[in-house]
Amino acid sequence: MNYSFRKKNKIVKYLVIHYTGMRNFELSYKKLSNPRSNVSTHYLISREGIIFNLLCLRFKAWHAGLSKWKCHSNINDYSIGIELENRGHDFGYQSFTKKQYLSLKKLIIFLKKNFYLLDENILFHSDISPNRKQDPGEKFLAKEIAIDRFKNIKNSTCNTNIDKMLKIYGFHKYYINNYNSLCIMAVKRSLNYKRISSSISKKFINDFYNLLFT
Ligand SMILES: [Zn+2]
Repeated sequence: MNYSFRKKNKIVKYLVIHYTGMRNFELSYKKLSNPRSNVSTHYLISREGIIFNLLCLRFKAWHAGLSKWKCHSNINDYSIGIELENRGHDFGYQSFTKKQYLSLKKLIIFLKKNFYLLDENILFHSDISPNRKQDPGEKFLAKEIAIDRFKNIKNSTCNTNIDKMLKIYGFHKYYINNYNSLCIMAVKRSLNYKRISSSISKKFINDFYNLLFT
């Protein structure tokens, strides 16, 4: 198992939701618990909804890799990682199961209470590494876990400038400046678009606006 010690000044603030992106559960479990794999996670949820706690939350897991969110970099320092079993975009991307959503929802309630986490800090890997990652992807339905990531934004000043909206969503300025179209694709995944492209249609601006402000 890979892990590091958490630094005292870096407390857990975020949850990061992933998919495993591997052919089956056994391969995912082996990879996530293999010290030579260079990755690890705190939780793994099988398609049957069984929650595996692979690493004590007191330690830092290696799930996010190069990542940034708002003003933070290296999100592993501040987060708990949750992997959902799913073949992912490379091996036949699946819908997540009802049992997975149910278990994830329970786990999130438990973690929110214990770490005083806010809905807005429950993140997707594709948000914090939009240039490298697509998970959990457009088939992940946030409404199934009853979180509203943008509820605290809703009374703030509305804006339809796309870069400002990306900033309000939470992307780090490095990604907005260097990977703008990939940030747009990450938002489309959050909006559960079936086709993910970087085009900015009127419909997209409208959907994005509604996600943030209404
Ligand atoms: Zn991931």
